[in-house]
Amino acid sequence: MPDLRNAPLSPATRLAQALHHVEERTGAVTPSIQPSATYARGPDYAPRQSYIYRRDGNETTELAEAVIADIEGAASTLLFASGMSAANAVLEALPMGAHVVAQDVMYHGVLHQLRKHHGTGRLVVDLYPAGDLDAMRAAMRAGQTALVWVETPNNPDWTVTDIAAAADIAHSAGAQLITDCTATPPPCCRALDLGADISFHSATKYLNGHSDVTAGALSVAQPSAMWDEIADIRKLQGTVLHSFDAWLLVRGMRTLMLRIERQSASAITFAQHFGGHPQLQSVLYPGLPTHPGHDIAARQTGGQFGGMLSLITRGSEQTAIDTARHCRLFYPATSLGGVESLIEHRKTVSGPGFNVHPNLLRLSIGIEDASDLIADLQQALEAAT
Ligand SMILES: *Cc1c(COP(=O)(O)O)cnc(C)c1O
Repeated sequence: MPDLRNAPLSPATRLAQALHHVEERTGAVTPSIQPSATYARGPDYAPRQSYIYRRDGNETTELAEAVIADIEGAASTLLFASGMSAANAVLEALPMGAHVVAQDVMYHGVLHQLRKHHGTGRLVVDLYPAGDLDAMRAAMRAGQTALVWVETPNNPDWTVTDIAAAADIAHSAGAQLITDCTATPPPCCRALDLGADISFHSATKYLNGHSDVTAGALSVAQPSAMWDEIADIRKLQGTVLHSFDAWLLVRGMRTLMLRIERQSASAITFAQHFGGHPQLQSVLYPGLPTHPGHDIAARQTGGQFGGMLSLITRGSEQTAIDTARHCRLFYPATSLGGVESLIEHRKTVSGPGFNVHPNLLRLSIGIEDASDLIADLQQALEAAT
């Protein structure tokens, strides 16, 4: 395979060709799936390549990692069996009692893990209001804070954090910054370029884009002792992404640019249509020029704001639930970033203990015709009130 890492080609071209993949032996332009759980040693009894056993990873997974590293501008990417297994590997790599600063509103699974580790004393976690960099700075303990976890835009409010400014705050206290930019994937948002030390993505979402894989990606600009530890945790926990899922992920990523452009365009049309709607209290979408984080998001994502937005309905919590229930086109399902549009009453799905507006509906805009999606929500709002 020619190395396209430094070739002057646009990310759309590199993604469409999965780095101009050609299988050496056959000329196949799609990769093979390498599912072996074990590897025969060579005549000298040494491993033929770096593989001994399935938990080491495999060629198919490494191709998916190479594609993500390319669009992230990363020196190294590791793929895990889910976003959560990647997140947990980072937390496990922290020393006992390490101080972590994170947002009070972020993906519920990661927040749950942080609270659990705080409760047992495994980690000491301070939460600050999402997007408030002064509060983040105040939560830092110089020389003690090991990790700052930023999710931008955050789930499910889509509050934007300036990654470069957050990196400065983290670094001046001697901490590392990890970013979760799952809602605006690379190459739109390249967190490592903006100063993040570790870039996290749930590849289940936009990167794969077809709701048929769970996967988590971690990427770094510079490998470190902590990076080696994370790789070791993946190997010893057996959380490497399976080769079948890696193959689906490579196939999905070939259309990432088409999908994200379409989803971003439809989301802005959708958000503008429903702005000021009498049955809605607000529309939360960083692509709207009136959103407080719009300018930072525009800078950080190159103007592709993604397909995630939330609506706060007027009336009771039940009206919000009924709106999701009456949709005919939007699937009433959790997750995001797939080709099909989804709607969920976030409070029902995240459960008790999370700071979610009771009337919040989270929408993942797919690649369907935007006018069909608008008509569907319109009739659902009418049916619910
Ligand atoms: C889905 C998601 C995760 C967790 O990833 P899984 O692949 O579901 O384990 C983490 N962060 C964000 C923002 C997500 O949307």
